[in-house]
Amino acid sequence: MKWINPYRGRREDMVLEQLAGRGVHDPRVLEAMKSVPREAFVPEELRDSAYADQPLPIGEGQTISQPYIIALMAEALGLRGDEKVLEIGTGSGYAAAVLAHLARDVHTIERLAALAGHARETLRRLGYDTVHVVEGDGSVGLPGVAPYDAIVVTAEAPVIPPSLRAQLKPGGRLVIPVSEGPDDQVLVRLTSRDGAREKLEKLCPVRFVPLIGSEGWPARGHGRR
Ligand code: SAM
Repeated sequence: MKWINPYRGRREDMVLEQLAGRGVHDPRVLEAMKSVPREAFVPEELRDSAYADQPLPIGEGQTISQPYIIALMAEALGLRGDEKVLEIGTGSGYAAAVLAHLARDVHTIERLAALAGHARETLRRLGYDTVHVVEGDGSVGLPGVAPYDAIVVTAEAPVIPPSLRAQLKPGGRLVIPVSEGPDDQVLVRLTSRDGAREKLEKLCPVRFVPLIGSEGWPARGHGRR
């Protein structure tokens, strides 16, 4: 008997209602979001909620982001398929899997060893062999593999880390949530330009866990969390 994946219909509904219905237009992004099994990246007891319009806990006090935000960030990177991408904040590995459908190579860094190990194993099991998971402080980027066509940060920084700016290729895009005060964050896109000024755009208000590291928040004492 043919096995029918019970999650596929929910995934297609999620793409139509939560993404296309809310203004995500890039057909490659919508296709990528249709292809990645989000249920494989959440704890087993939360699989039934995998396609709900919300972040979900993944352990270690961290979350897998809301599908809409992941699609919005992927769209803002303007990927065409031949790029080298850096993601800061691997978490479950889900966003890295989405990026793997949109770019040539994805390097992703996670500061918590348990999450990095778990994400690496999930991505390997699903066959995402163009995603490279590294454990470490991503607030300083990954200089050994730089420069990047695109960098995406899935944790909130106090300011745009200078190391990430420096690791972008000319014309490269950096998408990052940045603090705008104790309770406010804004998603920002910085486009680097060869020999000219960078372009900085504010995209929308967001809510992310903190980017903890030498060019992020200190591990303790960042006050509000
Ligand atoms: N992209 C993830 C996904 O698809 O599941 C969600 C990421 S979660 C909202 C943010 C992640 O950033 C957390 O796993 C957290 O441990 C990680 N993080 C925070 N500061 C970091 C840093 N300096 N370097 C690398 N990862 C960091």
